[in-house]
Amino acid sequence: RCFCKLQGEVDDCSCKVESLDSLNNNKIYPILTSLLSRNYFRYFKVNLKKSCPFWSDDSRCALRDCHVNVCQKDEVPIKIPDVDTHSEKHERNKYLKELNEGKQGFEERCAEERELGALDATISEEKKAEFQTWKEYDETLPLFCDIDDEHSNDMEYVDLLLNPERYTGYKGPSPRRIWRSIYEENCFKPEKNYGYGPDYGKDASIESMFFIARGMCLEKRVFFRLISGLHTSINIHLCDKYLFPAKNGFGQSYWDHNLQEFQQRFDPALTHDQGPQRLKNLYFTYLIELRALAKAAPYLKQKGFYTGDNQEDEDVQKGVNDLLDIIRKFPDHFDESQLFKGNTKEMQQLKSEFVLHFRNISRIMDCVGCDKCKLWGKLQVLGMGTALKILFSGDSMGPDSIVKSQDKDFQLTRTEIVALFNAFGRLSSSIHAIETFRKLAS
Ligand code: FAD
Repeated sequence: RCFCKLQGEVDDCSCKVESLDSLNNNKIYPILTSLLSRNYFRYFKVNLKKSCPFWSDDSRCALRDCHVNVCQKDEVPIKIPDVDTHSEKHERNKYLKELNEGKQGFEERCAEERELGALDATISEEKKAEFQTWKEYDETLPLFCDIDDEHSNDMEYVDLLLNPERYTGYKGPSPRRIWRSIYEENCFKPEKNYGYGPDYGKDASIESMFFIARGMCLEKRVFFRLISGLHTSINIHLCDKYLFPAKNGFGQSYWDHNLQEFQQRFDPALTHDQGPQRLKNLYFTYLIELRALAKAAPYLKQKGFYTGDNQEDEDVQKGVNDLLDIIRKFPDHFDESQLFKGNTKEMQQLKSEFVLHFRNISRIMDCVGCDKCKLWGKLQVLGMGTALKILFSGDSMGPDSIVKSQDKDFQLTRTEIVALFNAFGRLSSSIHAIETFRKLAS
């Protein structure tokens, strides 16, 4: 039996690894893979040029496989709108309708508005007040990620299918510093030394974090497990799509699964017994994003996946609906109402620390020294942040609660939706890859 044949509970929830394997590999993975190849999901808008806010000495990686091909302007389907929240689209359509139905032409209307300066000012004061209340509301919502400025000149579309996540050769001090900073400076530490030995608290190393997390409260452990699950997923992909040198020194290098690399990273004998738990953390992260999709299903079903091609848009909506129906029927969802229980000052403090720590990790992604790794790192952290935003939004946090489709206050941008589905797609593909390694090892 391969060490990667995991069994039993995912931990911190009642769900079993076997039921997630079956749900993912038989149902979710095939639908999701097909959906993510569609135009709506394959183009991700991102700023890869943002400078690292924490250290300045990290040179950008020159490895060939770190290079990202960004889309030239004419390669992006032109009808993908930059901002496509439901209300903005509605406002835009309403404005265009009024403009078209009005007797005046555009020029006349502008001239009249210039003349009616006073009235104009009154309207915009009202609008300003409305914007202010929206802003105030938005500021009360937890902001999990430092989101790239949609209007920056450095925002570029990337075709994710042309830039797959795979082995890049990014290793050594640069990624080590990123992972160390994430675990040692941004994951939670226990306040007291409950017998962890000298290596606890602010000096805890990545390796000891693993043991420390077991003894922490649920919220802090969830934070660690989410990050560890993401780390597992990234490392599985580099093992699954690994670049081998040409055979016998002739011909071309080629991409294939690398079982030995996978074993080195996850075999308990080679990882101080931590490998299987790291794999379990992947299932846990998957379960969290699965629950977020279930909770946001009614909102996502009425969203509209607009690209301008009616047939394509209909097919994508149908695919999304089918996927969400499967997800909603899953009986063993994570119950987020177990988190941040009670409205005490301590809980509120813990919640805001949780958000702040996560947002810091989203900033660290700008310090990744390999563009390809940075692209997928930013996308997956934004996707996870979007999942957390969904879980902590809405009236109630019970397992049956949903983000109401009519809830005007809850909005996801197009970029957040693309990130959410693609991040979940990465976790789904990692679970599928474990099955491949299981077969290769047997
Ligand atoms: P690392 O993976 O760097 O891990 C460092 C230490 O963390 C380990 O020694 C171990 O103690 C601990 N650890 C490892 N896994 C876990 C886990 N799951 N949970 C808890 N602790 C753990 N490389 C690519 O080839 N392609 C990519 O697309 C890619 N994307 C990346 C994205 C980001 C954001 C980062 C930071 C790195 C990325 N890398 C990528 C690099 C890759 O993750 C490794 O850092 C690299 O392969 C070196 O691996 P390593 O064996 O030194 O251990």
